[in-house]
Amino acid sequence: KSGFVTLIGRPNVGKSTLMNQLIGQKIAITSKKPQTTRNRIQTVYTDTDRGQIVFLDTPGIHKAKNKLGEYMVTVAERTLQDVDVIVWLVEPSTFIGAGEQHIAEQLRKSNLPVILVINKTDTVKKEEVLLFIDAYRKLLDFAEIIPASALHGDNTDTIIDMIFKYL
Ligand code: GDP
Ligand code: MG
Repeated sequence: KSGFVTLIGRPNVGKSTLMNQLIGQKIAITSKKPQTTRNRIQTVYTDTDRGQIVFLDTPGIHKAKNKLGEYMVTVAERTLQDVDVIVWLVEPSTFIGAGEQHIAEQLRKSNLPVILVINKTDTVKKEEVLLFIDAYRKLLDFAEIIPASALHGDNTDTIIDMIFKYL
């Protein structure tokens, strides 16, 4: 099996950290400052048994506030046409707002399998993660919902397993 995956989500949710963790090499740029990753970066995950996953690390889909923001939204939304599976990263500190509704609408239109990753679970209690999952379930019919910590590598292997499942 082989296919294309895009990692989407708000700036700073941990997209680059997750990609680095999955690939096992420092390819994408991570930073505490939002919007460090301005362009698509492709990296390839190769598994001798299962095949290849090409990751497109994109700036987050979000409501543009300026010209650069508009450009980044365009880049992120365009990648939806080029992929087989979408991984949407969220973090438990953020409430579901207009931005999330907007993203969910774009993803629903794409008709692609969407894997929701609740990242940074190392920062909150299990009960909070469960409440967060319940809230997100109402937003979209997700293929899978995976709690994880990109920083610590918790459950990141499950993300790979689930991507292969939907390729
Ligand atoms: P991006 O803008 O979505 O690409 O986010 P980054 O990967 O650059 O991460 C933004 C910040 O969140 C960095 O300081 C990361 O170290 C931190 N971060 C990412 N994943 C995790 C995680 O699972 N747990 C914690 N505690 N911090 C994380
Ligand atoms: Mg990034």
